[in-house]
Amino acid sequence: MAVTDVYISALDHNKEWAAKIAQEDPTLFATLAIGQHPQILWIGCSDSRCPETTLLGLKPGDVFVHRNIANIIHATDLSSSAVIEYAVRHLRVKHVVLCGHTSCGGVAAALGNKPLGILDPWLLPLRQIRSLHLKELQGMSATEASLRVVELNVQEGIKLLKQKDVVLEAIEKRGLQVHGLIYDVACGVLRELDSNEPEEAIKARLASFKLEA
Ligand SMILES: [Zn+2]
Repeated sequence: MAVTDVYISALDHNKEWAAKIAQEDPTLFATLAIGQHPQILWIGCSDSRCPETTLLGLKPGDVFVHRNIANIIHATDLSSSAVIEYAVRHLRVKHVVLCGHTSCGGVAAALGNKPLGILDPWLLPLRQIRSLHLKELQGMSATEASLRVVELNVQEGIKLLKQKDVVLEAIEKRGLQVHGLIYDVACGVLRELDSNEPEEAIKARLASFKLEA
């Protein structure tokens, strides 16, 4: 029996999906054609097992998205910076979510020592985390160490997000919330990371990164 190519069958599924959504929510596509008002900016991994809108049970128009390998925030990355600026300043999202996930290939690569070409500078922040926490990681199994780096990477990314003036301004002026999550690809469940900061750290961050209008 001939196996249908996944791309061909996906195009067929799209027609069925569009018809089903139009039936369930007759005004959705007409509303989306006018504009978007997402309340969530999702920054996650490009991994095929982490489809943000699906796993949140949301619809087109609900989530503004940036995904890259291992959900890394690089302070000088033009792509994620443009997405964050547009989502926070212009779309005025209420929540910024940075989500890491279990079994992340980018994290596994950074915990190994194979040369990976252009991926090496991209994964550098993960190797820096590895270096900083080497002792702790060496005392763990490979799975535990990988999950620990996933968590530390999200915490580091949240720190960098909160060093961006556009984010600081939105937190102060309209209560923008920044969240760290870990997605378990083995069960489909999200877990929130503790994002509480000591008062002193908040003060130091504002004094150092808040720019004057
Ligand atoms: Zn990943």
